[in-house]
Amino acid sequence: MHTSIDTLTGETVELLQQLIRNQCVNDGRPESGNEQVSATLLRDEIEGLGLDHELIETEPGRTSLIARYPGTDPDAPALCLMGHTDVVPVNADGWTHDPFGGELIASSDGVLEVWGRGAVDMLNLTSSMFVAFRDVVRTGTRYPGDIVYFAVADEEAGGVLGAAPIIEHQWDVVKCDYVLTEYGGMPSVKDGATTVLLTTGEKHSAGRLLVVHGTPGHGSMPYATDNALVKAAKIVDRLVSSKVVPRIDDMFTARVKALGLSADMEARLTDPARIDDALAELPPDLARNVHSCCHATYSPNIMRSGSKSNTVPDVAKLLIDIRLLPGETQDDADAHLRAVIGPDLLPSVDIEHIRDDLNNGTALSSTETPMWGALSDAIQMAYPNASVLPSLVTGATDGRFFRQRGVPAYGAGLLSHHVTLPEFLSRFHGHDERIDVESLRLTTQLWLDVLDRLWV
Ligand SMILES: [Zn+2]
Repeated sequence: MHTSIDTLTGETVELLQQLIRNQCVNDGRPESGNEQVSATLLRDEIEGLGLDHELIETEPGRTSLIARYPGTDPDAPALCLMGHTDVVPVNADGWTHDPFGGELIASSDGVLEVWGRGAVDMLNLTSSMFVAFRDVVRTGTRYPGDIVYFAVADEEAGGVLGAAPIIEHQWDVVKCDYVLTEYGGMPSVKDGATTVLLTTGEKHSAGRLLVVHGTPGHGSMPYATDNALVKAAKIVDRLVSSKVVPRIDDMFTARVKALGLSADMEARLTDPARIDDALAELPPDLARNVHSCCHATYSPNIMRSGSKSNTVPDVAKLLIDIRLLPGETQDDADAHLRAVIGPDLLPSVDIEHIRDDLNNGTALSSTETPMWGALSDAIQMAYPNASVLPSLVTGATDGRFFRQRGVPAYGAGLLSHHVTLPEFLSRFHGHDERIDVESLRLTTQLWLDVLDRLWV
């Protein structure tokens, strides 16, 4: 028997507030993050329950917690509930309330919300997973398979001080057959039918460094010089004006349908010939997300050249953030770049791989698994007759490290009707990040309902 959902929701709210206040801000530097504070807090909360648990520190302060609650049948599949404890930095000037206050505030229409960095990415899930996990242990509820709780550091900087080394070197500690992590569970209603999207895969990175070569010269005589910066600038221009063919598949179509747009807009967004014009009519935040869900993207983000203002640079370095769709390969990215750079500039350019996510980490997790069935059934407890559909996240999550091992990983959660998908997406890494208490209740209940259905 689980504890009442009212009590558990209260625990989730309180834990979420504490995790927000811990300010485990990961700015990409190894000395940031300090997830040890939250890992220790969570460890203290399960101390005394007789659980196997381990704190793993990859760098000073970069601590993850893993706890395992054994099942009754060693052959039954194990489930890992994985939540990251780090959050991205804030610009407090853009916030209406303290981004690290973890305050519980009623909105103008009376909806209670927990405010703060991490409220949707993903301390809401990290806290509700923990509360559900602890309740199972505390009440002595037994399931056939192991349940693993994994509060992981450093997700926001690519998992290099968290999931990546732990999964690679300490697989025995985290080993499992299914993973639930961020994010999914937004209901949308159209013509009386409810659709809920869960994540089965993500785009993968193919970051490239272009080293563009030229010839040095005196800055006072630039005429007809072989300026590496000018060449790099041409490449940037060609890149941003190049066409990438959209991939309109079932998954993309389902996502578009979940946005609650007009039938005409839906039809145009799912037509390769008309999608560009349709995107231009959407609000920019939403257009960006929709565009990224059906295109490989190439974003030139850093360019460096020269050391002295009176010298024509002989080398320029251009960093491009490339995100591929599932099934696209590193070779596809290189081929597109070579075509964009063009035969005139290609001899001057070295293309170096700086981020080479394994292609096999990007396979979509199958929906033909007992885990997906349990998730769908559990979601239908809250939203009867909802269609539960697979979707894609545009950013990277730690789920990919499990998919690389062939372990299905799903992004889940369950949200109330108080927020729309476009608004929810805008809160990721954005200002005024917050989550309503009803969503925390639904998500806490979801994990328990999933556990009750996975092994039957
Ligand atoms: Zn996240």
